[in-house]
Amino acid sequence: MTRKRHHPPLKCRHCAQKAVINMRQHKLALCSTHFVEWVHKQTERFIGKYKMFTRDERVLVAVSGGKDSLALWDILLALGYQADGLYIGLGIVGCADYDHLDYSGESHQFVQDFVDYHAAQGRDLTLHVVDVAETYGASIPVAAQVTNRGREKPCSLCGLSKRHIMNRVARDHGYDVLATGHNLDDEAAVLFGNTMQWAVEYLARQGPVLPPSHPGLARKVKPLFRFYEREMAAYAIVRGIAYIYEECPYASGATTTRYKELLNEMEIGSPGVKTQFYLRFLQARENYGLFATARETLMLNTCPTCGQPTTLDGVCSFCQTWARINTRLAKCSPAD
Ligand code: SF4
Ligand SMILES: [Zn+2]
Ligand SMILES: [Zn+2]
Repeated sequence: MTRKRHHPPLKCRHCAQKAVINMRQHKLALCSTHFVEWVHKQTERFIGKYKMFTRDERVLVAVSGGKDSLALWDILLALGYQADGLYIGLGIVGCADYDHLDYSGESHQFVQDFVDYHAAQGRDLTLHVVDVAETYGASIPVAAQVTNRGREKPCSLCGLSKRHIMNRVARDHGYDVLATGHNLDDEAAVLFGNTMQWAVEYLARQGPVLPPSHPGLARKVKPLFRFYEREMAAYAIVRGIAYIYEECPYASGATTTRYKELLNEMEIGSPGVKTQFYLRFLQARENYGLFATARETLMLNTCPTCGQPTTLDGVCSFCQTWARINTRLAKCSPAD
């Protein structure tokens, strides 16, 4: 019979309190107070090191109701940045585990709860809300059904629409910076996918800071790109931030999810391997000019309809796609 080994509870590196998290890749265990302090200090360091933004600039945080984006908004507010929120209502119903959940409605509620919590503390936050169905004529799942007749997941239309809306709101309200809650696991998985495909145009642009490609557009930044997903989950719990646990129903089975699992398996044997994979890519690109030609040859034009950048010679894919969706919807709706 094997005897069970009992490990004493891990202590925080800075005090005698019990640790709430052990970050093997940093050989660092911390209690809740020191963990929150560490997350704030690290974020501040990355914002400065990668020249993301300053306290004079206005930041628009894209909040989905998930842990990462709400944690990001919380951190930026705690650090004293001018951070407002943007919630995009996609009109998605169901989730990976049950089909009766109002995924978008619940997500919006978590964002609203965050805003209400701050209001109760005497701090009025600004939250911009764009409902896709109200603004453009159909929810993302309905629009996807109309364009591709349900053959594919709505993710490409969803991504295209979210990018357009984020750029538009940032431009219309004069934000300097658009911040998203992507963490290291997200970034490493996307890099893995881009490398598997040798998607040179994406490899040329993927990074924690994307300068504006057009006048009037905001700089795009990912201040949480050095944190692991589990660290952000721990941060949200420790800070008492309620967030939606369920995943979008269309996220299940996505290749990015499989790459995340693969990278996590490697991480078990070699703590820090995910960070190295991503950071060394950034260093190699910078130091050896990798993919520089792809970056220079990317020609961007201006869409005559919406004024946003496009690789197309004329109306951008967002405007073309939504015009097509509305034409088809008009044909199916009963005449008045
Ligand atoms: S999984 Fe697809 S449909 Fe769901 S939010 Fe993400 S991109 Fe949109
Ligand atoms: Zn401590
Ligand atoms: Zn356009």
